[in-house]
Amino acid sequence: MLYSFTDLNSSSPKNKITVAFAGNPNSGKSTLFNLFTGLKQSTGNFPGVTVDKKTGTAHLYNEATKKLVELDCIDLPGIYSLQPNTEDEKVSADVLLNNNDIDIVLIVADATNLRRNLFLATQIIDIGKQCVLALNMIDLVEQGGMQININLLAEKLGVPVLPISARNSKGIEKIKKALLTTISAPVTKFISDKNGEMQAENILRYKLIDKLIENVITEKQILPSEKIAKRLDKILTHKFWGYFIFLFVLALIFQSVFILAEYPMVWIENLFLWAGNKFAEILPEGKLSDLFINGIWAGLSGVVVFVPQIAFLFLFIGILEDTGYMARVIFIMDKLMRKFGLNGKSVIPLISGMACAVPAIMSARTIGNKKERLITILVTPLMSCSARLPVFTLLISMIIPATSKVGFFNLQGLTLMALYLLGFGAALIAALFLKLLLKTTDKSFFILELPIYRAPQWKSIAINIIDKVKVFVVDAGKVILAVSVILWALSSFAPGSRFEELEKKYDQTQNDDSAATKLAAEKLEASYAGILGKIIEPTIAPLGFDWKIGIALVTSFAAREVFVGTMATIYSVGDEANTLSIREKMLNEKRANGAALYSVATCLSLMVFYVFAMQCMSTLAVVYRETKSWKWPLIQFVYMSILAYAASFITYTIFN
Ligand code: GDP
Repeated sequence: MLYSFTDLNSSSPKNKITVAFAGNPNSGKSTLFNLFTGLKQSTGNFPGVTVDKKTGTAHLYNEATKKLVELDCIDLPGIYSLQPNTEDEKVSADVLLNNNDIDIVLIVADATNLRRNLFLATQIIDIGKQCVLALNMIDLVEQGGMQININLLAEKLGVPVLPISARNSKGIEKIKKALLTTISAPVTKFISDKNGEMQAENILRYKLIDKLIENVITEKQILPSEKIAKRLDKILTHKFWGYFIFLFVLALIFQSVFILAEYPMVWIENLFLWAGNKFAEILPEGKLSDLFINGIWAGLSGVVVFVPQIAFLFLFIGILEDTGYMARVIFIMDKLMRKFGLNGKSVIPLISGMACAVPAIMSARTIGNKKERLITILVTPLMSCSARLPVFTLLISMIIPATSKVGFFNLQGLTLMALYLLGFGAALIAALFLKLLLKTTDKSFFILELPIYRAPQWKSIAINIIDKVKVFVVDAGKVILAVSVILWALSSFAPGSRFEELEKKYDQTQNDDSAATKLAAEKLEASYAGILGKIIEPTIAPLGFDWKIGIALVTSFAAREVFVGTMATIYSVGDEANTLSIREKMLNEKRANGAALYSVATCLSLMVFYVFAMQCMSTLAVVYRETKSWKWPLIQFVYMSILAYAASFITYTIFN
């Protein structure tokens, strides 16, 4: 049956329609979903499971009723079939089969890969719901000189088929209208009588699809882009050059993150310093102003200053994913990963882990094999995330001058890369141990289709960057703000009348600058924060850390990036003039014997500690959510802490 899509006046009188977006991974579903819903979307979870649920609304004018119709859109996880292998597939299949709120399914299919995409599409059609098929990437089809008989395809499938190019925003309005017309159309099936046997059914389905494709495609040529892609693939997935190029790309990324982010970081830092001083001038003197300037403002600047680095990191990860290069990396890494109990697909969580372990661990859901998924989850936090970046960059800048070079590489960037590789190496070794320790009966197999190469889609990368920066600033910001206030209180008050006594002692001496600094230092030591730091000092002294670092270790237990904010707060309390940056203040810090506290050994030891330590509440929480047991986050926390302590101890002993 063929619908007339131009006849909009037969539209349903409904003024609210729930549309489920379904399709193969990489069919362009998200691009289309974004076009439909723009910024009016939110992310949650499907009930009972931890698979992401993206929902949003779009509006459409119904010419028949002269009313605005609301489209409630649900983006289902990308899947290959309705016979679920992974958590994602289970969810999509479950929603499509059992959720009665879905009025209509918008199937998104990649027109350049009809056979595989129609397999899922026809399965969905056979559920017996109203469907519209968006035949996406039609631009590529046209470019390649291939022709698809859309009308014939629609007739054979029994549902409206609309050629679109989501990337170029072409054909979108027609889809919306088709949704409206189809909602009240009768349903049809592709395979009407199922014989119950799934396997046989699949064979029959492919047979019918092959026949269908033969009829609807009139001219198949090899796309010029396919030829180039084949040649590129040979190089990028080469046994030797593939790895070499990947390493080179990573090195380039880290260099760029450092170099490009530097300018905006300096601007932000100066802006905060300037504003802090302005506040100090304007606000009346007193405890409350002190709390704001030296607690909240100082802590906040420690967060915001790292936004440029995080944005650049996500920019590069976005480009790698979008261009199709990431799929090649997964492909060449699969063999290596398997040796360590992981899977080619583990590369995505591991690489995303360089941004943030929380979404990274969630992305491990695409790994069907339970054991490989668990191992991936357990080792992903060893990948250096963006929260460690502030800690690393601060400490690196303290021991390595910005101008140091090795060859044409900047030494700061190389050191940063070494820290990331250290985390990666540790993740592989930990995975190997877990592979030997954990028992399994699951078999794993790996199907990956190399997508075609594409130019990155800047808009969606930009949306993603804004999203991630928002998460960082808001989520990390909340913790950091709370910790800054608590910390300010702990360091601004002391038991009994210790502060008064110290003030009296310094009252008699002259009121010069050095006396003020000494008073501030002694006050911090006498404060509650000082007491807390001193309690843990003996435990961390073998790592080269003093009680001030101890305070920062405690506060950054909840989230690593708090370290920098804490340092900013600790070294701001009492610094009335507020003229030096945190870095300068830390560089001035001396041990009791007069040696610089932040020596090469201390800084390296601290960095190594942060490479390994499991200091992130959110990660522990998400591991609990994903594994549905406290056992795994606990094991993870313990093994990573032991690793951190031992590695720091060794580093400090060697370099001291
Ligand atoms: P999803 O995995 O199904 O959500 O797919 P995405 O929306 O992430 O799209 C996968 C890739 O296909 C992205 O790089 C998009 O830019 C690209 N893409 C999406 N729609 C089109 C299209 O109509 N034409 C072309 N050439 N590329 C597209």
